[in-house]
Parts: sequence; structure tokens; C-alpha cells
Amino acid sequence: MSQPVPWSSHRLLLRLAVIEGWLVNETPLRVGTGREPPLGSAVDLAVIRIHLGGRSVPYIPGSSLKGVFRSTAIQLARAKGLTVCSGLSGDTCMDWESPKYGTSLLKFIQERQREGDEPGAFRVFHEDACLLCKMFGAPSFTGHVEFSDAYPLDEKGQLLEVPLGVRTGIAIDRRTGAVYRGALYQVEFVEPGARFKLTVRATNLPNYALGLLAKILKMLHEGWVRVGGFKTRGFGEVRVENLSFSVTGGTVSGTKLLAVDERDVEVDLAGLAQRYDGWLKASGDNAWRALSKLEEVWDRAALA
Ligand SMILES: [Zn+2]
Repeated sequence: MSQPVPWSSHRLLLRLAVIEGWLVNETPLRVGTGREPPLGSAVDLAVIRIHLGGRSVPYIPGSSLKGVFRSTAIQLARAKGLTVCSGLSGDTCMDWESPKYGTSLLKFIQERQREGDEPGAFRVFHEDACLLCKMFGAPSFTGHVEFSDAYPLDEKGQLLEVPLGVRTGIAIDRRTGAVYRGALYQVEFVEPGARFKLTVRATNLPNYALGLLAKILKMLHEGWVRVGGFKTRGFGEVRVENLSFSVTGGTVSGTKLLAVDERDVEVDLAGLAQRYDGWLKASGDNAWRALSKLEEVWDRAALA
């Protein structure tokens, strides 16, 4: 079944899928601020914090999680033979010269927009931008996957304690390998066992694209993909607990997630998910089973 409006459009909500759970770090976790530490800071490299409930608490920014998912998606999509871009500004598939249009995709699309041909501009984006730009966003196009900031909150929304540690590192010159004189620095990290609430919302994604997200979530849970800095030192391993997967919208029929485009395949979650208030929802082990059904669609889909 093909939709009259392509799924990468925001004009129509074909479906909304929500993945929720908790990220629990199994090894030290470090998400930095990417800025100089404030004067008088006890550590040189503090973890990023936000003001929440009158306190300054460590968290994992949604942008960090999105970065982890997109960079892993690049590898998985390329392994599948798909041409996808890095997503880095100035080097997206929108910036590449398109032999088809004799200019970059972005310029061609902008010309259509200037002429007032919004549907035409959109069709070109849908047909020619890479899958990851459609999923995660591209210059002048909003993506369809949104990662909320992951705060240390429990099931009732109450703040959880985040145990912090500090390690001393030695600054090494990357070029010569020599130790900088007097170059000890303090690195702050989240001790293992902290819990951060994960919420991923995806609109309109076909089953194969939900399957790509599912595959990355499983890789994260199994330790193949890590979050934050110092990954080479074993930091950033997280598992996913209390997983739930919910989906609603016109492309959900009973327990079935209908195909969203001509390359998509229907998935039936009978026995795994229940209807509730207009939503189809699976929890715990059944949520993982539901996601692995979607992952199979990604694995089998001929997209290249
Ligand atoms: Zn792209």
C-alpha cells in the first residue's frame, strides 16, 4: 500500500511510534559540555548538567543520543548497500552535486520552493535525499525521529540520585605521544548504575525504518554501541530497562502495522501488543520481541 502523501512529509500524521525505557549505565558514563569548565570548577572536564527540580543534575542530551543513533545508522545502511550521507553540515546528500539536476539537491529544491511549487520540492526531497536525512533531518527539512533529553527520573517523575566519580587523566600530545608537563586533569563521570529516562518519538516511519531504530537500540542494549566520551576506555556501556513500544495512527490496524510505502512490509504484533486507548502497546520482553519483528523487516528490505 502506498500513501498519497509521502511519509517524509509532515503534512499528514500517518503514525506515531514511541519507544520508552531507562538507560542504565553498566560502565562509567561521560557526556561532557563541549565547553571550557567554569572558573573555580572542581574538575577540568565536568559532565553536562541541567537545572531540574531546583537541583543541578547530570543528564544525557537528546542531541547526544540522536548522534549515536545517526552515526550507527550510517554504518548499518552502508553495510546494506544504501548510499547515505554523514549528516555533517556542508556534507549532506542535500549539498552534493546531483547529476540528475545539474546542481545540488538543496539548490534545486530551493528553486522549486521559490517558484511556489512546494509539493514538487517535497517530491524531489522524498525521492532523492538519503533515507537517513528523511529519518533524522537535513538542511531545511525536519526529521521524523525525536530524542528527548534523558533525565535521571523514576517511573513517577521523581529525581533519582546520580552517583558521580572523578578520575585523573594524563594529557598526551596526540602527535608525539609525549606527556605534557604537569598535564594531569580531572575527569568527572557518572558511576555505573545510574538511570536515565529514554523517550524516542518517531512519526510516519515505515516498518523498515522503525526496524533500523530497533536494531540500534538492541546494539546499545548489548554493548555494541556506546554513549558519550572515553569509549576506548570502556566508558558508556548502557542497557535498556523497562522497555515499551507504542504506536498509533491511521497506518495501525488492529494489531498490524501496515506497510507505509511500496518497499515496506506489514508487521503483525498479535500476541505481543495490546490495543489501549487508540494505541497498540507492547511492554518488557514483548516490546523487545515486537522491535525484533520490525528489525527483521529492515534486515530483509530491498532499499538500495
Ligand atoms: Zn542524506
